[in-house]
Amino acid sequence: MSTPATPRQESPAPSAHDAHQVGIDLGGTSVKAGVVTHDGRILQERNYDPGFSRGPAAVLDTLAGIFRELGGGERLGIGVPGLLDRPRGHLIASPNLPGFVDLDMRGELARRVGLAPERVHVENDANAAAVGELWLGAGRGERDALMVTLGTGIGGGLILNGELYAGAGMAGEVGHIVVDPAGPPCGCGKRGCVETLASATAAKRRALAAQLPPDAPGDLVMLTERARAGALAESALLREIGRDLGRGLGPVLCLLDLRVYVFGGGFSAALDLLQSGVREGLEERSYGGRAPAVKLLGATLGPAAGWIGAARVAMLAR
Ligand SMILES: [Zn+2]
Repeated sequence: MSTPATPRQESPAPSAHDAHQVGIDLGGTSVKAGVVTHDGRILQERNYDPGFSRGPAAVLDTLAGIFRELGGGERLGIGVPGLLDRPRGHLIASPNLPGFVDLDMRGELARRVGLAPERVHVENDANAAAVGELWLGAGRGERDALMVTLGTGIGGGLILNGELYAGAGMAGEVGHIVVDPAGPPCGCGKRGCVETLASATAAKRRALAAQLPPDAPGDLVMLTERARAGALAESALLREIGRDLGRGLGPVLCLLDLRVYVFGGGFSAALDLLQSGVREGLEERSYGGRAPAVKLLGATLGPAAGWIGAARVAMLAR
């Protein structure tokens, strides 16, 4: 069932004194899971096939099997993409997980792994990634930060005073801050949300529309390579996309005076080319001349941030 991933940092078998935690990240195409000690050493890390074609019940069986295979434990932390009823641990809906509608993730998993429901911690995947990056990744040592995931859409996770802040459940969802009310239609039903302008999907669409790069319009890897090599049109497009991203984050700066932003997801590989625009957009949509002082950091844990953060959420719940 498992395909071992490249070990990040294989350590010797843990001693009885090493408290450790299993974390799982259920994604739309794969499951990433691992074991991390309370002091942040990664003991195991693996990728699995969720087997979505067999339906949610079978996927839940698979997740329980992963937990056992990784050694089990007293708690389980899991990150899932989608809208959660966090107090109950229910997944209300997920555009990325077929058939997962109004599902009692906590209860179903607890039953399968033989834990009390309060020992199973279900978190939104973007929130989990934020917790992971602030613990062991780019935001290590920071107390307040927003993690922004630039992928198919734009996700966000907010850490305030060292802790995940979810508000009534959906805090940090910066992808749907409206930048241009007359902009492109968004999956959420509104227009011009920042994710319609600065996600990887949006960047690809804008590159295609601009016929950039000329030899392969819409190819973001080539677009960024050409911009780094000094191509003016490509650089200008990325700067404009960055500006829209910054415009989307301006309200965050105004509301929270947040100075640390960690960017993950595939399109964050272009952060070096986006960042001057991000600062311009932040400056345009905030006040006080704070934009030059903000830290714009590239995530460092990659796809592991989700499972590591899910493990951390379970760990901190003690
Ligand atoms: Zn939207």
